[in-house]
Amino acid sequence: MSDLSNQIRKIIFEKYNDPDTRFTNDEVFAVLQQNNLVDKSLIIDDMEPHFENLCSSGMMRNIAQNFTTQWFKLFEPLEEKKCSSCGMQNFLSKSEESNCLYCQKPI
Ligand SMILES: [Zn+2]
Repeated sequence: MSDLSNQIRKIIFEKYNDPDTRFTNDEVFAVLQQNNLVDKSLIIDDMEPHFENLCSSGMMRNIAQNFTTQWFKLFEPLEEKKCSSCGMQNFLSKSEESNCLYCQKPI
């Protein structure tokens, strides 16, 4: 999984870490832009593979769509887990496998 998907996980953990809260791809993208985490040439369509990744991993689901705006909800809150092999912070849902998203080793 790319680092940008992991940045998106971190934003969701910090701002929307509640299964009752809805959030949109636009809101998450705005935070990425404000924090200079994405190249200025990127547009919301470029984010789509990352949001698809996060849905197919089982941590969240797409609940609605209107043109390019997509609404999401978490299944369960994300937990912060530090990888004992590489030291990176991971933001994982309980239902996901506890393998590090950076080095792939069990956390
Ligand atoms: Zn690791």
